[in-house]
Amino acid sequence: MTVLVTGGAGYIGSHMVHALVEAGESVVVIDNLSTGFSTYLPEGVPLFIGDVADENLVEGVIAAHGIDAIIHFAGSVVVPESMRDPLAYYRNNTMTTRNLLNAAVKCGVKKFIFSSTAAVYGNPDFTPVAEDAPTRPLSPYGSSKLMTEIMLHDIAPAYGMEFVALRYFNVAGADPQGRTGLATMGATHLLKIAVEAATGQRSKIDVFGTDYPTPDGSCIRDFIHVSDLVQAHRAALSYLREGGTSTTLNCGYGRGYSVLETIEAVRRASGRNFAVQYAPRRDGDIMTMIADTTRIRATLDWTPQYDDLETIARHALAWEEKLARERHGIELLAKSA
Ligand code: UDP
Repeated sequence: MTVLVTGGAGYIGSHMVHALVEAGESVVVIDNLSTGFSTYLPEGVPLFIGDVADENLVEGVIAAHGIDAIIHFAGSVVVPESMRDPLAYYRNNTMTTRNLLNAAVKCGVKKFIFSSTAAVYGNPDFTPVAEDAPTRPLSPYGSSKLMTEIMLHDIAPAYGMEFVALRYFNVAGADPQGRTGLATMGATHLLKIAVEAATGQRSKIDVFGTDYPTPDGSCIRDFIHVSDLVQAHRAALSYLREGGTSTTLNCGYGRGYSVLETIEAVRRASGRNFAVQYAPRRDGDIMTMIADTTRIRATLDWTPQYDDLETIARHALAWEEKLARERHGIELLAKSA
């Protein structure tokens, strides 16, 4: 039994590959390296550089390696980019997954774990938001992921496949052992930006909106440590192997931190007091995004280990240090101390 991880050289995918190898699984990766890096994969894991939409490639890998399950991360993930170029998102996320599924069905792969997103909810009516809440994505990114979920719902009964779609909330942090982390250039996510400000790589952080009807006026997010997130995938794999049926699960901790609290956590973790500027609301931002975790806790054997924002910030900072050392030969926190 071998697991195929698509996008396994990317941020979340590479954490997944490390976790699977650590658990004694046999793993192969397909990644086109458009945003991923082969350097952060464990040694000895076969990497096929190519596109998941390439059915010949996927069928060849499935046949050669006896794949029993696919964990599918490959795709595009930047919301504002999806607003500017929706067709790229419908290609990279929806159409690519259609081809991957076609290859999986042809080759008889029966287990599929899909990297979905809380963006499928759009602005929820209630918070925490549960899986049966209405799906009204506000971006082509969210729509492209929701379209994939719809495909999975249709194909599972038709071809005898079982899937778990995991709807991620705000994924952050890095491998506690420093083996991998977020290495993509130009990331726009809050924790990454705050870490860059704390390490002197940017002069300040903008807080987009301080007039929301929340306790401190800024938006609220459910940050989940990337290592806990990948353990949820491992638990999903066990669930499917033990005969679990298709399901869709929120993947968060079920509690929220505001943007200002998040910045404070990075200040505490780094010991740095960087500049914070209040800015207008960012277009398309949802005020409060917190997962109702009832279903995932009832369905999977999953116990999060890093449900602490300062720990998440500390791991992100340590990774940023390592990246700077490797890429530029500099010590970030020491430099401007
Ligand atoms: N945010 C911010 N400043 C930044 C980046 C993000 O105030 O430099 C806010 C953003 O407006 C949102 C929250 O942080 O309210 C989370 O944004 P992010 O892009 O990290 O994730 P999203 O929830 O949009 O997927």
